[in-house]
Amino acid sequence: MALVVQKYGGSSVADADGVKRVAQRIVATKKAGNDVVVVVSAMGDTTDDLIDMAEQVSPLPPARELDMLLTAGERISMALLAMAIANLGHEARSFTGSQAGVITDGTHGKAKIIDVTPGRIRTALDEGSICIVAGFQGVSQGTKDITTLGRGGSDTTAVALAAALDADVCEIYSDVDGVFTADPRIVPAARKIPRISYEEMLEMAASGAKILHLRCVEYARRYNLPIHVRSSFSQKEGTWVVDSSEIEGTDMEQAIISGVAHDRSEAKITVVGVPDKVGEAAAIFTALSEAEINIDMIVQNVSAASTGRTDISFTLPATDGQTALTALNKMKERIGFESLRYDDRIGKVSLIGAGMRSHPGVTAKFFAAIADAGVNIEMISTSEIRISVVVAQDDIDTAVAAAHRAFDLDADQVEAVVYGGTGR
Ligand code: ASP
Ligand code: MG
Repeated sequence: MALVVQKYGGSSVADADGVKRVAQRIVATKKAGNDVVVVVSAMGDTTDDLIDMAEQVSPLPPARELDMLLTAGERISMALLAMAIANLGHEARSFTGSQAGVITDGTHGKAKIIDVTPGRIRTALDEGSICIVAGFQGVSQGTKDITTLGRGGSDTTAVALAAALDADVCEIYSDVDGVFTADPRIVPAARKIPRISYEEMLEMAASGAKILHLRCVEYARRYNLPIHVRSSFSQKEGTWVVDSSEIEGTDMEQAIISGVAHDRSEAKITVVGVPDKVGEAAAIFTALSEAEINIDMIVQNVSAASTGRTDISFTLPATDGQTALTALNKMKERIGFESLRYDDRIGKVSLIGAGMRSHPGVTAKFFAAIADAGVNIEMISTSEIRISVVVAQDDIDTAVAAAHRAFDLDADQVEAVVYGGTGR
């Protein structure tokens, strides 16, 4: 008997019919002789709707209350799903994140899981029940307040539970058939990747591919837990995210490039006229770190000799833009910069592939493809297996398609089906 953890995204349970369809799939897994734990997201656009509602009553909702509100979305879907399963003649029990033993730190809106103690889940499984757990939420160890893990966090709930329960596999269901070489909504000729390593999937997720939550992949890698990413709308085999040792040598011609990811959620801040003195960059980024802001790319030029001043540009989540500007403006006198420029009409396009470690010329080909498409590059950053560029937001789709084509990733026949349209 295997223990299977399944996670269903919001598009899979968008309405009553969706809930019933998913219930059938869960029951079929149970009937096949497995113990089943299901993590479920909020129905359709519920989370967005709840955020809208919060903003209507308060421009800056207190983080504790926002978390309390948003966790309601997952509680609706978990209870409905348990009812639909009961209606099929099987015993199902729903649990909030807190009841399932998901213990987090106290950072509302982006809490980190610090422990999972799934005692109640174990007991329910032993009693023959199917367990349904509300995704994306936990309880703070210190304050005992309800927390959320950040947008898309249900994936992380699923992997964390799977690791704590020592599950055989974690299946992540959405409305596309797996991980594709690019977002099929932008590149219809994108191909499904049959197997991808944790490290490449981490780079994809960090580069904006929303199919899997970044922390879920980090978790899976730490516990060496295989993830099967697939669609709840089809029976097709999806993408397996596994250790690289299970890939090398198996695919005869392992592609140099795994895929092209893009991200529309970032903004760029330029600190203009920073005095060229020891400690200035440290002061700027300390201020940002104290405001709990995650920085992505950074570019600093050598100062123009005549002015003794330089510009520092960096990217960050656009949602943190105001906080960052406020934090920096407070330091304006102390740091002595001239002004700040803010631009959220940007986007990031990234090329990812473990093969670029050993193949020269990848960077040149990537930049040439983008140039041939008439797109201007504003910033560049690289890791060992990734090259990212910042471009104007309106140029993202063009740049993604051009890079995809240049690296021969286009499929001859369209194989990507987007069943729901959200990728969640
Ligand atoms: N419902 C949450 C969101 O929309 C969490 C999730 O779907 O994973 O971000
Ligand atoms: Mg998701």
